[in-house]
Amino acid sequence: MSSADLRDLYQQVIMDHNKKPRNFHEMDDANHFAHGNNPLCGDALVVYVKLTDGIIEDLSFQGSGCAISVASASLMTEALKGKTIEQAEHLYQQVHAQMTGEEFDANALGKLEVLSGVKEFPARVKCATLSWHTMHTAMDSDHDVSVTTE
Ligand code: ZN
Repeated sequence: MSSADLRDLYQQVIMDHNKKPRNFHEMDDANHFAHGNNPLCGDALVVYVKLTDGIIEDLSFQGSGCAISVASASLMTEALKGKTIEQAEHLYQQVHAQMTGEEFDANALGKLEVLSGVKEFPARVKCATLSWHTMHTAMDSDHDVSVTTE
């Protein structure tokens, strides 16, 4: 994908997912959840995970934040539903790597490659990674935890 195409797609996808976030609700039967805060921007999200036998049976989020934080969380919930913990952790690392300019596995990312558009806005990388850090923390813990970006 050319960088101009990627930039267009980035803007379209971010706008679409911000306007109509997918899986944007609380989850009563979540067995893992965490609060994520990005004080630099004011993004505050809760990520809910329902893990069954090592598989993400359901994933949702709630909260408020800028367009990038909401869109990234929305894309994440779509991408991770039905995945194993290992697959989710692998994707988390690839997403993080592509946004911070490290090497990553583009095949694994698929649709999430669009998030690499945030690299052009370094101040927003923490907005885009917030939900992913929060998901990672939630899966590691069986009680409510808080994550704050630095
Ligand atoms: Zn933000």
